[in-house]
Amino acid sequence: MADQGFTPDIIIVGAGLAGMVAAHEAVLRGRRVLLMDQEGPQSLGGQAFWSLGGLFMVNTPEQRRMGIRDSAELALSDWMGSAQFDRAEDANPRALAEGFVEWSAGDMRPWLQGLGLRWFPVVGWAERGGAQAHGHGNSVPRFHITWGTGTGVVAPFAALMADHAATGKLRLAFRHRATRLIIQNGAVMGVAGDVLAESDAPRGASSGRETIGAFEQRAEAVILTTGGIGANHDLVRKHWPTDRLGSAPKQMISGVPDYVDGKMHAIAASAGAGLINEDRMWHYCEGIQNWNPIWPNHGIRILPGPSSLWFDARGDRMQAPCLPGFDTLSTLRRILQAGEHSWFILTQKIIEKEFALSGSEQNPDLTDGGWRDVFRARLGKGATPAVEAFKEKGADFIVADDLDTLINRMNELTPDHPLDPDHIRAQIIARDGQLTNPFAKDAQITAIRGARAYRGDRLIRTAKPHAILDAANGPLIAVRLNVLTRKSLGGLHSDAQGRVLTPAGDVLPGLFAAGEVCGFGGGGYHGYNALEGTFLGGCLYSGRLAGQNA
Ligand SMILES: Cc1cc2nc3c(=O)[nH]c(=O)nc-3n(C[C@H](O)[C@H](O)[C@H](O)COP(=O)(O)OP(=O)(O)OC[C@H]3O[C@@H](n4cnc5c(N)ncnc54)[C@H](O)[C@@H]3O)c2cc1C
Repeated sequence: MADQGFTPDIIIVGAGLAGMVAAHEAVLRGRRVLLMDQEGPQSLGGQAFWSLGGLFMVNTPEQRRMGIRDSAELALSDWMGSAQFDRAEDANPRALAEGFVEWSAGDMRPWLQGLGLRWFPVVGWAERGGAQAHGHGNSVPRFHITWGTGTGVVAPFAALMADHAATGKLRLAFRHRATRLIIQNGAVMGVAGDVLAESDAPRGASSGRETIGAFEQRAEAVILTTGGIGANHDLVRKHWPTDRLGSAPKQMISGVPDYVDGKMHAIAASAGAGLINEDRMWHYCEGIQNWNPIWPNHGIRILPGPSSLWFDARGDRMQAPCLPGFDTLSTLRRILQAGEHSWFILTQKIIEKEFALSGSEQNPDLTDGGWRDVFRARLGKGATPAVEAFKEKGADFIVADDLDTLINRMNELTPDHPLDPDHIRAQIIARDGQLTNPFAKDAQITAIRGARAYRGDRLIRTAKPHAILDAANGPLIAVRLNVLTRKSLGGLHSDAQGRVLTPAGDVLPGLFAAGEVCGFGGGGYHGYNALEGTFLGGCLYSGRLAGQNA
């Protein structure tokens, strides 16, 4: 195997962000590390490469420059209001959450800045909640987009891996798929698995699973950083919280590459590891089919500003907090009461200012460009080129000059769920009628005005309130939205040192975990709801803990 002649102290399975961070920390402590992944070198960094690079950070210079007053106390209150921890096994997740929030308001930013990360100056306001002050959601904008998006998060750690490999302290073993943990006297002593045939599949594409050999490797400790279950829709369905969300949709699109297969969860369980909170998941309502797919069933998430009108499959406009960008799981539950898909209806003015797409490849200006590219893409005429491409080529997009044509074409797209044009029109007319005064009873219009009180939203994310049916704001656009699978909020039960626990809550000697495989820390440090930017953050935080303790 690739690691012959190298005797590791620690084996890390999974070379995504959490694995790289854990490897770096362990090498700094003088540990010899073998970092393996079932994918090839072209996939180093895992999902984080594809991410938008949005990081939850608190009380930062970027926030202060935008006039945002934030604090660790407010962030913790928001976190607990969102997490709603209510299970005995939430003790470790809660401890991890408290530790992370303190870190995100303290050492996180200086540490990342020291590694070379920088952030876009307009802080985003993701997942606003929109119900009660003590409930779910971010009271203030905290979503810091890294320059370079996901590639900008991965690059410094990928460079560190190369440096550590050059000094001989780290060995990278690609196309090594772990299928079993080696147990001796009740302790995890190593990893066994398959060596896969090399693949030149581009990053993110399916790479094949042809086996050309087997391996067994021993070490004092094993850290699992194998990611979540988002691409394994059978597992998503198995753990779907029907009691809280309703039945899982029959059709879902995939927001992650297919190596996010979740197979390690069962492998670890059969070695004695405990899994908790597997029914807690974070899937998105605003998924669109990628017209230019990279991985199977590839979906992209729209990161919407607050103005699009949101209708369920029956054509009923959804009530607050089921507004774009406010409360992901409440909206998912509401959508599933009426069908499987939902609809945005909006204007050209809204798409130009408010539509962003999640993913590094959908934001070339922020990923590869400089200031000039960003200004041109975000403040110039039209939506960003990536959004315009979806408008033109995406299977879920419809553009029309008048409402009747729009609804006719919506009905052609979903013939099993025909919409009544009169019903849709009446709701939009009523909504447009609320614009006469600078105050209104319509919660969405009030929310739009609230968003525009924040400079960042007024500048690049929230269109001036305007009548949807006024042709001057058109053409009209409808977008069919699909449920898109993404993040696992539960997983391996671990403690504040990153040690994996058994189902009885005892330490399973020799086994550690970090990142999405352990619900981003502890077995689910988000509880029921995420505040966004907390997934990469959780990989960084829990990766450090595991690397410092294994
Ligand atoms: C499009 C997109 C946008 C996103 N945007 C954001 C954002 O802006 N902010 C944010 O906070 N989060 C975001 N996320 C989420 C975040 O990127 C992920 O949750 C995070 O990167 C997961 O990292 P990880 O290291 O835990 O796992 P992964 O990145 O999934 O890495 C796990 C690795 O383990 C390997 N592996 C799995 N099983 C085995 C096995 N048996 N043997 C060997 N190797 C194995 C896999 O091949 C993979 O390389 C986004 C995700 C996507 C896909």
